[in-house]
Amino acid sequence: MTRSYRIPLSIPYLGAEEKLLVNQALDDGWVSSAGPLVGEFENAIAQLVQVEHAIATSSGTAAIHLALAASGIGSGDAVVVPDLTFIGSINPIAYVGASPVLIDVRESDGTIDVDALRRYLDDGCERRDGVSIDRATGARVRAVMPVHLYGSPADLVDLAALAAERELFVIEDAAEALGSSLNGRPTGSWGSLGCLSFNGNKIVTTGGGGMVVTHDADFAKQARYLSTQARDDPREYRHNAIGFNYRLTNLQAALGLGQIATIEDRLARRRGVAARYRERLAGTGLRFLEPARSAISNNWLVSIVLDDAKRREALIATLDAAGIEGRAFFVPVHMQRPYSSARRWGDLRVAERIYAGGVNLPSSTGVSLSDVDEVSETVRSVLEARAPTVTQ
Ligand SMILES: *Cc1c(COP(=O)(O)O)cnc(C)c1O
Repeated sequence: MTRSYRIPLSIPYLGAEEKLLVNQALDDGWVSSAGPLVGEFENAIAQLVQVEHAIATSSGTAAIHLALAASGIGSGDAVVVPDLTFIGSINPIAYVGASPVLIDVRESDGTIDVDALRRYLDDGCERRDGVSIDRATGARVRAVMPVHLYGSPADLVDLAALAAERELFVIEDAAEALGSSLNGRPTGSWGSLGCLSFNGNKIVTTGGGGMVVTHDADFAKQARYLSTQARDDPREYRHNAIGFNYRLTNLQAALGLGQIATIEDRLARRRGVAARYRERLAGTGLRFLEPARSAISNNWLVSIVLDDAKRREALIATLDAAGIEGRAFFVPVHMQRPYSSARRWGDLRVAERIYAGGVNLPSSTGVSLSDVDEVSETVRSVLEARAPTVTQ
């Protein structure tokens, strides 16, 4: 290995604008969430995602928690989610006292299988006074939460139509999908509410942070209210509900504003990385997770799927020995201890299979194309060593 560094999965891409803005915030003395850049950052994100309202939060998980709480989802309610996602999608459902219903994903991109969702609502639920009641648990199904896995938009067209027909809220977990779109419409803007993350490994980072986005003024008002300890009086500390301290700080907003100033460049670089992997690994028969035809992915993480877990582990080990960080996909929710007895629909076979073979490859905004070539060569060597009899 001639490199003196490891090639990481996805690290922050920081520029001069960030330094300028953070220093300015320090010079102005504004560090807390009361600072003026929080509102500026919210407006900039609202414009980018094409929604009316945006509420900055301390994390993506907090954004999802607020979205659920602002929708009035709580005890006795159920939220339908894909089985293949980060645990940060699921834990907030437990925070509000509701329960997840796990649905399988589609093979092509690992996002929620809307046909399976329909079957669940038709066969697993009964309609009572316009509400879908889960036949097995008695829970009221209130919302569906599509997750745009690794940047690929879920099938929001069919999902939104189905949700409207069954009077379900759509809460988009767009944590990984800032800059993605479907039919030209940004992810995050399709649902009743959308949730973004600015965690360190995401395309735009504030160190840690998130955002609730929505077209609906009432949802926005409620989410903002709950994010600031549900304070009802600007002079007195009077609180008529149980709120949270979930606000983003001015320092973080400064960082975020600097980051989104270069969003187009970020997306172009990720696009270039994704295209380069496909070019370099063409002809190997290797399968990539691919966005749907009418979808544009922000290419957050390049995702490949091998035949089984043994091959996945072998590849990750070979990459590791070569100083390259490859990472297994999220462990399906039904295989996580706190959710091992969660309500599930069907056998979740696709989620299990994609998880078994799934590897994310280094996809940082700033990764060089020569590093991408080196990663590709290492992947290619593993594939060729293991499959000498492939014919086509
Ligand atoms: C990152 C992420 C979250 C949570 O965001 P944090 O900012 O880390 O709290 C939620 N869902 C998905 C799918 C994510 O990738």
